[in-house]
Amino acid sequence: MLGNFEYTRIRSIDEGCRALADAKEAGAVLAGGTDLLVEIRNGLKSPKLLVDCKALDDLHVLDTSPEKTTIGASVTLNRLIENRTFRGHYPALADALESIGTYQLRNRATVSGNICNGSPAADSAPVLLVLDATVHVHGVGGPRVIPIADFFAGVKRTALNPDEIVTSITLPVNAGRRTSFLKQQRIKGHDLAVVNAAGAYDPETREVRLAIGSCAPTPVLLDPIPMDVSDLAASINHAVSLVQRSVSPISDVRASAGYRNAVLPVLVTRILRELLDPGGEA
Ligand SMILES: Cc1cc2nc3c(=O)[nH]c(=O)nc-3n(C[C@H](O)[C@H](O)[C@H](O)COP(=O)(O)OP(=O)(O)OC[C@H]3O[C@@H](n4cnc5c(N)ncnc54)[C@H](O)[C@@H]3O)c2cc1C
Repeated sequence: MLGNFEYTRIRSIDEGCRALADAKEAGAVLAGGTDLLVEIRNGLKSPKLLVDCKALDDLHVLDTSPEKTTIGASVTLNRLIENRTFRGHYPALADALESIGTYQLRNRATVSGNICNGSPAADSAPVLLVLDATVHVHGVGGPRVIPIADFFAGVKRTALNPDEIVTSITLPVNAGRRTSFLKQQRIKGHDLAVVNAAGAYDPETREVRLAIGSCAPTPVLLDPIPMDVSDLAASINHAVSLVQRSVSPISDVRASAGYRNAVLPVLVTRILRELLDPGGEA
């Protein structure tokens, strides 16, 4: 049995923001509902108003220009995964999205919902972080942009104000950059991450960006790390030690802190080998 709430299918973003403001923190945006409806059913959330944005055409835009890709907030995961241009530009993000839930779930779920849910284990988060994504939001005061690095505020908390709706996420297009995503889960098939991690390597600057999920209250983005490809082993060891100092895994239903600490260097090493030595033996 779902809770007792009002439902509104909005016809403009302003209408949605006003409805959320009037609901005074008791409103929630409904995207695919794959997190929200489960949480309501389990009694973890009890919003008085659900604001459904899926009738707004602008939020269904998926567009790639020479500089950037725009992912409207209502674009489903499967639409992204099955779009060849998108996969060509962002293979690691497509891999991350494909690791989320089941095919049926990905027909409903959105990237915006994945990040707005504020889970430290959100599978899109590490890749969005290393890609320097920008989150575009709209509130009663108008639009604003939030760099993804500033978006996650704690477990189940984001930088969004109660009246704000994410309208899109944009990603820079950078053809030369190599990216990778890996996820450790308890079982084959669909499961949340015990640890997830993403890396992006720019051969021009010879710097790597690394981001880790499920090992701290929020997904963690490290500062750019210079890589010396002539001494790959030393560079990787250095990067792994920086990662270990940046996270604080806990034990929970999915894994112990000790297991996470043991898995993390393996994932990070594999990512770095894939990025820096693509034809190598790792
Ligand atoms: C069986 C199952 C398996 C799953 N497996 C995975 C997994 O492997 N990896 C993973 O990361 N997640 C997983 N999830 C979680 C979930 O499917 C994803 O987080 C999904 O991307 C959420 O998107 P959604 O569109 O359904 O969001 P919703 O459920 O609609 O919303 C999620 C939250 O974000 C808010 N929100 C949504 N859109 C907006 C917006 N535009 N502006 C402001 N706030 C907004 C909602 O109010 C809500 O708080 C799983 C869930 C289930 C039920």
